[in-house]
Amino acid sequence: MLEITRESHQLLHIPSGSTQKRVAIWVALSIFVVSLLVLPFGSRMLIEIKPFLPGFISWFVLGDFLTSYLLFSQFRATRSLPLLVLSCTYLYTALITIPHILTFPGVFSETGLIGAGDQSAVWLWVLWHGGFPIGILLYLWSGRKSASPVAVKRIKTAGLIAVLLVLGIVFLLYLLVTLGNDMLPRIIQKGNFRVLLESGIGPVVWGLNLVALLLLLWVHRGRSVLHLWLSVAVFAFLMDVTLTLYSGARYSLGWYAARTNSLISATVVICSLMYEVNKLYVRLIRNREQLLRSRMRLEEANERLTRLSEVDGLTGIPNRRAFDEKLDKAVQASKAEGTPLSVLLIDVDHFKAYNDHYGHLRGDHALKRVAWALMETSITFPHTTAYRYGGEEFAVIMEKGDSEQAAIFGEHARKAVVSLGLPHEQSRTSSLLSISVGLHSRVLEEQDTGDGLLEQADQALYRAKESGRNRVAKAEDGLMHVYDQKTS
Ligand code: GH3
Ligand code: MG
Ligand code: MG
Repeated sequence: MLEITRESHQLLHIPSGSTQKRVAIWVALSIFVVSLLVLPFGSRMLIEIKPFLPGFISWFVLGDFLTSYLLFSQFRATRSLPLLVLSCTYLYTALITIPHILTFPGVFSETGLIGAGDQSAVWLWVLWHGGFPIGILLYLWSGRKSASPVAVKRIKTAGLIAVLLVLGIVFLLYLLVTLGNDMLPRIIQKGNFRVLLESGIGPVVWGLNLVALLLLLWVHRGRSVLHLWLSVAVFAFLMDVTLTLYSGARYSLGWYAARTNSLISATVVICSLMYEVNKLYVRLIRNREQLLRSRMRLEEANERLTRLSEVDGLTGIPNRRAFDEKLDKAVQASKAEGTPLSVLLIDVDHFKAYNDHYGHLRGDHALKRVAWALMETSITFPHTTAYRYGGEEFAVIMEKGDSEQAAIFGEHARKAVVSLGLPHEQSRTSSLLSISVGLHSRVLEEQDTGDGLLEQADQALYRAKESGRNRVAKAEDGLMHVYDQKTS
């Protein structure tokens, strides 16, 4: 069970190829270089783009909600607890951003909405930027080796508890920063983030992000697409915190750059998840195609096997197994439809002597010729098939054929074998290889069986042999009728 879960986990975590890694390194480097260039001019004020903040937050919230949802789907598929923790981390950042923007002074109202105090928004920023790396650390901790998958029946409960827990935490934090606004240490002054840095709270947040990034890189090394881009996301977040701490006021260059880093952070993981989903989709279709192809091949092989198992190896005509199956069906059909069914048993005359005289190989060859002669004859009669019954004996099933037609068939077959012109010097019957035919034909009653038919046909064959061989005999209503080959 654990193996299956690991398998599905691996299936979901597509390894990051070298191109992916290169792109990720380029993105991270660009973030780093741009952030570094911006840093000295971070406090330079730019024009105020009022819709920037709500737009940025909307993008961020949507991105994190979607990321959380996709990660939750992966958790449901793999039942891997770390994925639930990561999903909750994104749910947390998406949720905590909402009171952050609502309490932000000067966005929806001068002093902020929903009971905002002057420290509420900045404290929510701290909880947002400090909560994310803590979530990543929890993710790494929950993924340690001993962690076992969540039981199938607990998935829903686990998901519900996790979501309620995150909602509860965010709500409590919201209450803390609004109702407890005045009790919290002051970490912002008139929109300036400097105090955040100097108070030590900012560096703690920064340090948490750095530790989360280093541990993430150390544990997973960006080996899967998700981990690679998660590392980029944490790095962008770290740069966001760095720029925020050094940027100074809102609408400064550093502030804009920090928000842009936030956006990159919120976007890369969802892009990587979309990439994974697309890859999985393609893989699913390919696997399905492969499955269908294998199934078709298997069916073909099965058909071939069935055909082979019903063909006699020496003569190439249907064998005893095919005969038994067909007889069963023919008996049922005769009973159901009230049509006559004829069975003919055919035995090569003095074949032991033929073998002894001409050798086994020529004996085999003769059997093949007899089989083909019988088959060719059967083709000219409707619903008629010849089988090798065993040894030098053959059987014929003639559906919907009465005893007259069966007798005609028997006679045709007898003549066809003699016409092969295979010399048989040791035969006391004829100078050529010949056969004797016993047949029985009737419309079957409910109590009749295939074995009963065969028994009758066998008795007729015995009579054909007894009365001189190279002839056809028929068992009918307890009477025997032997067709004299010279007169018929
Ligand atoms: P009868 O006219 O009374 O049928 O005499 P018979 O010699 O044909 O009867 P019997 O049943 O004593 O002999 C059947 C012989 O058929 C014995 C065996 O050597 C031969 N035989 C059975 N199967 C094969 C086969 O696959 N190849 C060859 N070459 N001979 C076979
Ligand atoms: Mg025999
Ligand atoms: Mg024989």
